[in-house]
Amino acid sequence: MLYWTRTPFWMKALFPAFSWRIQEAEPAVYITFDDGPHPEITPFVLEQLRHHQAHATFFCIGHRVVQFPDIYQQIFIEQHGLGNHTYDHVDGWHISSRKYVDNVMLAAVHINSNLFRPPYGHITPWLYHKIKQQLPDMQVVMWDVLSGDFDTSLSPQACAEKVLFKARPGSIIVFHDSEKARPRLEYALPRVLAYFQKKGWQMKALPYQKIHA
Ligand SMILES: [Zn+2]
Repeated sequence: MLYWTRTPFWMKALFPAFSWRIQEAEPAVYITFDDGPHPEITPFVLEQLRHHQAHATFFCIGHRVVQFPDIYQQIFIEQHGLGNHTYDHVDGWHISSRKYVDNVMLAAVHINSNLFRPPYGHITPWLYHKIKQQLPDMQVVMWDVLSGDFDTSLSPQACAEKVLFKARPGSIIVFHDSEKARPRLEYALPRVLAYFQKKGWQMKALPYQKIHA
């Protein structure tokens, strides 16, 4: 499987309007979780975050929010950030722009946030333009460091090391609260959180705005 652990600068230069890394005076990291909510894995993640005084951001799949509304609510109650990850986890490179934007808007009915992360990171300038036409406040959030927790060929140890070696102040880091990522997530997450906590770096949620009342 080919992917970059740290996003190359030229990718960031292609989409300067997107969030890749946050510049701040105090060292902080922005841990994010894609593809939930999940009835067992998300509660595990929430417990770990609580235990390490960390906040994070959850890019949820709309149909899973409908399926597990209590878990979505719990994320909100614990003051983590929320973001839209489409309704059906659609791939922006393999679907019409109309269907794509409809899927983002359907998710927005259930996920009250102006943050958006495209599944697989697949988005084009045209899709971005179409989303902004319908939802002008949408802010696309990509990432600086990919944990690779979705990569079944990666050992749990290697997944943790990737994050520990590549994260720097301001990094937006991607994990997944999903079945596929579970073996690596369960090992890596507690270690990553303990590492940043010991280092005195804050673990913060990405600020977001509600898009409807
Ligand atoms: Zn995803």
